[in-house]
This record gives sequence, C-alpha cells and structure tokens, in this order.
Amino acid sequence: MKLSATGLSDKGRVRPHNEDAMHWDDARGLLAVADGMGGHAAGEVASSLAIDTVKDLVDDAPRSGEETRELLRRVINVANQRIAEKIRSRPEFYGMGTTLVVGVVEGDRLVIAHVGDSRAYILRNGEIRQLTTDHSLVNELVKLGILSKEKAASDPRRNVVTRALGSGMTVAPDLIEEQLFPGDIVLLCSDGLNTMLGDDSIRQTLLGAGGDLERTCAELVDAANRAGGEDNVTVVVAQPVGAESPGGEGERGNPIEEDADADPAARRPGS
Ligand code: CA
Repeated sequence: MKLSATGLSDKGRVRPHNEDAMHWDDARGLLAVADGMGGHAAGEVASSLAIDTVKDLVDDAPRSGEETRELLRRVINVANQRIAEKIRSRPEFYGMGTTLVVGVVEGDRLVIAHVGDSRAYILRNGEIRQLTTDHSLVNELVKLGILSKEKAASDPRRNVVTRALGSGMTVAPDLIEEQLFPGDIVLLCSDGLNTMLGDDSIRQTLLGAGGDLERTCAELVDAANRAGGEDNVTVVVAQPVGAESPGGEGERGNPIEEDADADPAARRPGS
C-alpha cells in the first residue's frame, strides 16, 4: 500500500524558535516528527539529529514486520547515541533531547516507534484514535488516577517527558502496529497541536478538510495557533494511495458531511 503524505511545521505564537523537525517520504512509506528540548537552540539540534537518523537508516528495501520493528529500534538507539555524542563534544548542548515518533508502512501495516510525547493518531470511519501513549509525567499521573485526562491537557507540568532521546542510556521505544485501510488518515504531531486542541477538535479538522492533505495540515496548524499557539506545532499527515476519498462509498471511508461543526469556520472561537 503506497502512501501520500505531507507535513507542516510552525513556531506558533509564543516561542521565538521552532525546535520541532519533521520528515516524510511517500516512496519509502515513511513519516516522522521530533520535538526538541534544551536551551540556546539545542532543541533544534537534537530534533534535527533524530530526523537525520531516520533519513539515513530507513531505506526503501522491502522488509518483514519483524525487520521493520528491528529497524525502528535501531533508528531510536542510533539517534539517541548521536545526540549523546553531540552533547559530549559541545558542553553547551548539555541537557538537550528530543521526542521522536516515526512510522513506516510495509504492505498494509503501519509500524510506529515512539519515545516522548509526540503522538500518532488514526482517523477511520470518522472516528479518531490515538495510537501512541505519551511518555509524560501528566500521562503517568492520569494512569495512576491522580489527574483527570481533562485536567492533564492544561496542567503546567504537561511538557515534562519521562522518556526522550539524548541521554545516551538505552532507551526503549514503544512499538505499535496498525493495519491500514482505504480512507484512513494517519496523523503524527508534536504536543504543540494536542495541548492546544482536544482530540475532537483534531477529528473535526481532519474531517473538515475532506481528504486534502495540504489543507488538513494548514487547518490543523491554524487551529492550534488560534487556540493560543503556545508551542511549536508540527503535523505530518498521510493517506493510503488509491483509496477512495473520505466520504466515498467505501465502508471504511471517513464521512466528510458530518454536521455544521465539521465546518472549520464554524468551530473557531471569535470567527
Ligand atoms: Ca513541544
């Protein structure tokens, strides 16, 4: 199954720099988003090293599922080592790190590896589902029942990640597999999207763009900025090629004619 993909990254309305990085490659069925952290532009260095590692290691050779999982584990660990080496060579980079969510499509299977709080979602049959589980302090607190999911979205500690690339210590990614169907839309994003927009807003924006991926990216970034744009926001979206468009007659297509709320202009506060 071939993919059509695109992405968009924006520094948002508050941050002086964009420390996110992204990559997509239709031919390789490859998608990736990294969200760097660390002062003095170090975050940009860390996220770029992670994305460069993805580009270096993921080629277009056919692979089995296990080979893909092994490749993605290797991507995570090589990126981690490269960032750690950079920190050793340049003390001003001490403390830098990055999240990484990377997806590879093999046949009709999407294999995702992730570390940190950048997310992957899938939209199918008009419903959105988060595929990844944040490696974040607030998510740990939610799992323990100490914090509600609703309060987690605005908790001041929401930027604290519990797993990231850059320590040089072995880091275990989560590996997730998902079968893809015609009409699915896959979204990878940095937390600048999902801390500004709830899952349902993201869902409505995906549906409202009617399967136009460029428009989908522009509207997601625009919606995050309208909601405050407090962080860099990066989105990479992908759809299986040759699939019927969302709203088509296929049972798995994503309906675009939802209701008035699906109209992007109708859900923006102040518009
Ligand atoms: Ca971020």
